[in-house]
Amino acid sequence: MSSELLTDLLHRSRLRTVSWLCLLYLLYTLVTTVLSPEPLDATLDQHLTRYLAAGITALCLALVHRFPSSIQAVYLGSLTLLVTVAMQEIQRLTSAGTFPLHLSLWLMAHATLVFLIFGTRRGLWVMGSVSFTLLATLLLNWPADPYAAADWLTTILTVLAAGGAGYMIMRIIEVNLLSHEQTALALRHARTDTLTRLPGRAALDAELQRLLARHAALGLPLSLAVCDIDHFKTVNDRWGHHRGDVLLFEFGQRLQALLEVEGGIVGRWGGEEFLVMLPGHDSASATRIMEACRRSLELQPIARPVVTVSIGISSTASGRISQAQLFNEADAAMYHAKQSGRNQVRVFQPDMTSRGHPAEIQAPPQPGT
Ligand code: GH3
Ligand code: MG
Ligand code: MG
Repeated sequence: MSSELLTDLLHRSRLRTVSWLCLLYLLYTLVTTVLSPEPLDATLDQHLTRYLAAGITALCLALVHRFPSSIQAVYLGSLTLLVTVAMQEIQRLTSAGTFPLHLSLWLMAHATLVFLIFGTRRGLWVMGSVSFTLLATLLLNWPADPYAAADWLTTILTVLAAGGAGYMIMRIIEVNLLSHEQTALALRHARTDTLTRLPGRAALDAELQRLLARHAALGLPLSLAVCDIDHFKTVNDRWGHHRGDVLLFEFGQRLQALLEVEGGIVGRWGGEEFLVMLPGHDSASATRIMEACRRSLELQPIARPVVTVSIGISSTASGRISQAQLFNEADAAMYHAKQSGRNQVRVFQPDMTSRGHPAEIQAPPQPGT
């Protein structure tokens, strides 16, 4: 799974969790109001802060769905309002000597949620500020009744435990995300050719396998082109290896730019050989595209020294061909382009013989086999 997918998954689980908690809180308020034995006008005054909290929660739910990408700002805003309401509720409840069950449940849920929404570092700041404000309010209004004081102490400890659990869960998620990102980056580096910064052999191998399976399933054509720079050895001999390296880089970038519009996938197979995959293109279409590339490279050279390229193409109409066979056919066609004078495009024909290194794409034989 890619890092973007994981981040998206985290964002969606944030949205879902906030939505569910808000809905649960609203449901709780509704049920407790309906089940309340007191008449509504009596409960209105008594539970005003609770209804205010429910209003803020409903607003948070609506805003989170209206502006999902600003979930942190929306949540922080509603949390600030809720803390203000909670401060009044603490004062009211402590003076009445009542046990604050709904408040402690509400605080517990938010202590965990804060870390999921803000991550561990910013979560600690938010959680610290909220805890400090509520604790200070409580200490300033400490209940005279020892039973109520004990209930409040239990509430504080439970909220702290819920916050600790939220922190630990988020820490595990963050560590996993980080290690996944590092692995993905290392894998990308390992699969990229360091000189041309194009996909290297391993990446091409995997991509060709994937494309063949996909095109076989869909019954779509797929073409493969092997491009070999002509007389590259003389570039090194005359201009030096460094110039040869620069030329390989520029050649690869140019080939990629030329093939981008056609949806071509370009990579360095090895040495001065490049591989091009043309998904959805049959033999005629691939020949037209690669001929245009060859001409462009010849007529508008990359840099000094001017180099030409020989190209071999192999195509499959339905993807029903092995990876090794498709590669060997394109390679044989390229070999024929060389033999016919270089700087040309050749399409594989059954009478073309391979240049004698069969199944190059296959894994080497195991020792003892
Ligand atoms: P042909 O037209 O038959 O393909 O001739 P060629 O000289 O291109 O082919 P040959 O296989 O004889 O030589 C390939 C050369 O490519 C030899 C090698 O030194 C050079 N080469 C391979 N990899 C690199 C590289 O990474 N950097 C540089 N500078 N040269 C490389
Ligand atoms: Mg070569
Ligand atoms: Mg060559």
